[in-house]
Amino acid sequence: MEFAAPAAEKHEIVIIGGGICGLATALALHRGRDILIDENKERKIEHVIGESRCLQRSDLITTLADELPIGTIRLGSEVVSIDLDSVTETPRLLLTCGSYIDAEIVIGCEGGRSKVAELLGLKASRAFDVGVIRGLTTYPNAHSMPHEFRRIRKGKIGVGMLPITQHLIHWFVNLPTHLLSGDKFPNDPKHIKQMALELIKDFPSNIHETIELSNLDSMSAAHLRYRAPWDLLLGTMRKGTVTVAGDAMHIMGPFIGQGGASGLEDAVVLGRCLGMAMSGIEGNNKKEKIAKIEAGLDQYVKERRMRVLGFSTITYLIGIIVGSKSPLIKMVAGFTLAILLRDRVSHVHFDCGKL
Ligand SMILES: Cc1cc2nc3c(=O)[nH]c(=O)nc-3n(C[C@H](O)[C@H](O)[C@H](O)COP(=O)(O)OP(=O)(O)OC[C@H]3O[C@@H](n4cnc5c(N)ncnc54)[C@H](O)[C@@H]3O)c2cc1C
Repeated sequence: MEFAAPAAEKHEIVIIGGGICGLATALALHRGRDILIDENKERKIEHVIGESRCLQRSDLITTLADELPIGTIRLGSEVVSIDLDSVTETPRLLLTCGSYIDAEIVIGCEGGRSKVAELLGLKASRAFDVGVIRGLTTYPNAHSMPHEFRRIRKGKIGVGMLPITQHLIHWFVNLPTHLLSGDKFPNDPKHIKQMALELIKDFPSNIHETIELSNLDSMSAAHLRYRAPWDLLLGTMRKGTVTVAGDAMHIMGPFIGQGGASGLEDAVVLGRCLGMAMSGIEGNNKKEKIAKIEAGLDQYVKERRMRVLGFSTITYLIGIIVGSKSPLIKMVAGFTLAILLRDRVSHVHFDCGKL
């Protein structure tokens, strides 16, 4: 007895993940026929990105999402699995609601625990021995902090503070995770705040005051994750017409503030490579179409691999310096880093080209 394959919706391009990279990729492709799927029912306010210029992640997300045609984003749908048809290699997605989607092209922008990366055979992202507590503090009557990024380190604890506006300050506290009891952060925002205050008790009183005043609903704490540089160098980033972008490809520590920025670069390069490949498609020859798409995706991977490898290596070494208990390992990592970072800002001067 033969079973018919379950019916599936069909789409030309499906982007999984509605974070910075997924939204920017949808905009870069801007075709109106594609869909973007995200598991969240609403968009979250989380990170702050940018180093000397601080930008609230939610502002960036809202700005990108507002530019997309209505109906492009499908919130509240989690992709449970993704498979390639054994004969045609067409990607098929299964959603939590039980429905299927057949796509000609799938771009996994679902962050550090990407299912698409798994399908490509990439090794799982790893946790640094470093954790970070982050928060925002609102000053209804304006704060007096200069508009610059302040970083202070005392022993094993680092604190960073950066005003976003005259009324809002972003701060973080980082620590080696061996200082955590049971290697875990508390879940409750009140306890997270208490922990941050305890960790910075020897820091200047103005830092203490900012964290004391912080908004509980902005509080988060997590182990930092990364994709190992050697996995980035050697890993398969395309299988058939499926690829990854953003943290799904290159999750890295936030130490040089380039994770979200490189997700934006991915979107521009992917949009250009795929756009050029698809504009060269004539007629209805499916095999030829797939070959052109694959060549476009290969060009994207080629352009991005070495660029993100540079960032990942730098952030990997900083993660080792902050998290390791061994002075010798810290010294070797520090020495290698000093060589790589001879020019401290060269990594931000990059032209990813036009769309
Ligand atoms: C502490 C910290 C500080 C940082 N500071 C900076 C900085 O200063 N500058 C900078 O450039 N970057 C910074 N970053 C990094 C930056 O935040 C990330 O690189 C960026 O947010 C990644 O965007 P993304 O779209 O690739 O992934 P994500 O933001 O992780 O988005 C993935 C989306 O996919 C959804 N999703 C996941 N799985 C599924 C599924 N199965 N089905 C459907 N949807 C799914 C998720 O819910 C999420 O909405 C920092 C990160 C951290 C942790």
